Amino acid sequence: MAKLYFHYSTMNAGKSTVLLQASHNYRENNMDTYLLTAALDDRAGQGRIASRIGIGAEADMFRPGENLFDKVANRLAKDPVASIFVDEAQFLSPDQVWDLARVVDDLRVPVLCYGLRVDFQGKLFPGSATLLALADEMREVRTICHCGKKATMVIRQDDQGRTITEGAQVQIGGNETYVSLCRRHWRQATGDLPAEASD
Ligand SMILES: [Zn+2]
Repeated sequence: MAKLYFHYSTMNAGKSTVLLQASHNYRENNMDTYLLTAALDDRAGQGRIASRIGIGAEADMFRPGENLFDKVANRLAKDPVASIFVDEAQFLSPDQVWDLARVVDDLRVPVLCYGLRVDFQGKLFPGSATLLALADEMREVRTICHCGKKATMVIRQDDQGRTITEGAQVQIGGNETYVSLCRRHWRQATGDLPAEASD
């Protein structure tokens, strides 16, 4: 039975690596896969999913407002695929997540989405919120904070290493960097932890 999957994580947990490995496993068994990534993410050049450990693969792109049911149906009409992989799934709109749910239910093809759960302010991305609501199965791609605890949060830093607590949810092409932290160290970095509780 086809399912909608949401593999969520914080930044730099290696979710693109996990996606590429899973897609590779299909292809190694002569089953084709269809890869999608957000058009606004140009870290790897247009139309490519790349991981920080150096592996990558060509991918089609989804854009804001695009009907993904039609896009996938058109792709499947040309060539059947065993599975659909979506990277940067936090950038899907709620409507696009529903499109993918219809792909699973009506076209009976599994869709595996990989994305960030929360932004640098600790708020759910709308696409991730809809995936948390609709996914048949969810899995966490884990990474750790500098203290060794599981990292679930992310801070945005400017080029001086200062934590930024305000700004747009999605910022493209700036000099900011992201650091994944456990919630306690996220609270410390964003000034929410009382000084006496800090370490
Ligand atoms: Zn920590």
